[in-house]
Amino acid sequence: MSGTGLTAGSSGGSGGSGHRFHYPGICHGCNFPNLCAAPLYRCSQCHLVMYCHRGCQARDWPNHKLFCELYKVPGGGGALQMALVAAAGASDEERLQRQREFLAGLRVTASLALGRRLHRHEEEALLFPRLCEVCGMTGPLGAGSGCCPDCCGVYYCCHDHLREDREQHRQWCELYKLCSCCNQQAKNREAITLPTALDQEYRPLAPTMEKHILSLASRLRPVAVAGASESLTFPLTALYVLQQVWPGLATAPVLTLHVVGAEDGREPRVAAPWEYLMHRLPVLARLHVLLVGPGLGGPQGCHRAALCQQCRDKDRQLVVECRRALYHNLPQATAAATPPTLRLAFNCGFHEWEGDEGDTWPDSFTLMADDAAPLAFTSFNHSEAQRDLAALRRAKPEVQVSLALPNPYRSTRPLRDWTREDGAHMYYTNQYLTVLQAGQAGQRAAQDTGEEGEQEEAREEGKQGEAREGGQMGEQHTLPDTT
Ligand SMILES: [Zn+2]
Ligand SMILES: [Zn+2]
Ligand SMILES: [Zn+2]
Ligand SMILES: [Zn+2]
Ligand SMILES: [Zn+2]
Repeated sequence: MSGTGLTAGSSGGSGGSGHRFHYPGICHGCNFPNLCAAPLYRCSQCHLVMYCHRGCQARDWPNHKLFCELYKVPGGGGALQMALVAAAGASDEERLQRQREFLAGLRVTASLALGRRLHRHEEEALLFPRLCEVCGMTGPLGAGSGCCPDCCGVYYCCHDHLREDREQHRQWCELYKLCSCCNQQAKNREAITLPTALDQEYRPLAPTMEKHILSLASRLRPVAVAGASESLTFPLTALYVLQQVWPGLATAPVLTLHVVGAEDGREPRVAAPWEYLMHRLPVLARLHVLLVGPGLGGPQGCHRAALCQQCRDKDRQLVVECRRALYHNLPQATAAATPPTLRLAFNCGFHEWEGDEGDTWPDSFTLMADDAAPLAFTSFNHSEAQRDLAALRRAKPEVQVSLALPNPYRSTRPLRDWTREDGAHMYYTNQYLTVLQAGQAGQRAAQDTGEEGEQEEAREEGKQGEAREGGQMGEQHTLPDTT
């Protein structure tokens, strides 16, 4: 095998509608990027979606009808009218945010009313409506009312407001463009082929995902880099963490990863991305990836992957194991059979469950933070990373952070953030990385403070103290080697 096909948008939705998307300036029906060359027609009932052509609307009507009728309000105006009423009394600055929150809240009622999960393009119609970036209003149709002509990603009620926001929008415009290009690529199911020859000797990773991918294929466009990075972010984040915290990496014959809280359509369960990791580690003979989470459907159990000729010649093994279970409920036999080198929780969302009766993370934390395997978790942004760590610390106050930084191996595919947390219009899969010290090391450090430790250990504890201070969120910090 000289290359591996990594299909872009592997985390896309399901079914025939799974690859459709919604932007305020792109036809909701055909998704064809006309780049605002021609005016769009608005659905006069819901006011949420736009079409390039009446024919396009007619073709989409059987799909759109039931969703649309949820927003039939007396006097017309649809969902946007409902949002405006909900935001009554808000100042100009507040109006946009209040309406966005209201419309986002409609996702739940819409899903209940329709008796199914919303399709992605329906959800996005509620999350990215045609509301002016400056004043939060929707303008009359026609001249002077429309979206940024470059990216079609944001809406303005009039030319004045488009001009007023130009400086502010400039920093996001390219990313909106890349965002919709990635949607197009996923819709067309374009596969990106990367050369994956097995490295003859171990080399540390390039400083970032982008540099790594471009070192393999220098001519790839950003959209192709983004497509490849979507699945590579999982194995390469694991490799990056191991490179930072595990001196034995280059010579290890066996590697076991526990991916905790895994979900369908997020972490890859196909072999190619994990085999890609193996190709970076020439001495490795066996990689075992255990994906475990209550939301993990599909075939269960161990799957031994068919590997490339080079790997077969070296008699290597790759096992991808899927278990639909809570991590702390894994059968003893399963857990004991594969003690982890590293545990990972991708896009963990620990904080989202806090205070919820259904929060099962604290029981898993106990298991995850108590032995010699370090735990790494990723969050969508810096604020969420802080909240995730706080949630973990309420259950396990003694955990020590060894690494907290913007993840150099995050996906490079921008995703629109309707909440605009931290003022950012975009977020990325695995954007922020936090790595905790292994449990035993943490415990030993705690004991040492109470007793007279040996000099050697005291010195090491000093180092850990340093790591603790420098390891706070926000600053890039690398754990000193443990020697
Ligand atoms: Zn169309
Ligand atoms: Zn409609
Ligand atoms: Zn406006
Ligand atoms: Zn733009
Ligand atoms: Zn191989």
